[in-house]
Amino acid sequence: MSPSYDPTESPVPAEALCDFCAATEPIVLFPQKHGFTMLMPDGTRHRFEDPWTACATCAPLVENRQLHLLLDRAMKKHPAYWDANRQQRRFIRATLKKMYQAMYDSIVGRPEPLPAPPPRPFHELPPKESPQPSADD
Ligand SMILES: [Zn+2]
Repeated sequence: MSPSYDPTESPVPAEALCDFCAATEPIVLFPQKHGFTMLMPDGTRHRFEDPWTACATCAPLVENRQLHLLLDRAMKKHPAYWDANRQQRRFIRATLKKMYQAMYDSIVGRPEPLPAPPPRPFHELPPKESPQPSADD
């Protein structure tokens, strides 16, 4: 089985980003009672089972089910938004809307606070490479 590129796969851990606007610091997570499967625009099916993380701005929009405000915010942070034409933007928005409606149906209870990430200790930084001695001295 060869590895394939998955645009929904983020290179950073899911907990590190808001699932809606990709802000770097999510503060809460919304557990799902049951996941859901969505047919993606490329014809593949994607299973959503992990809790949804949200930043301080997105969390109340999710909790109060302010779908259109949440869509407005998510759209402007979507990687394809600024290069997309009107028709493409409409398509992205329709896809996100379907996804968020399914998410609202699967979310259970109130959001749970996420612990703040610990500051990165200095000793985790890679050591500086020492310069190679020159041969022509
Ligand atoms: Zn957010």
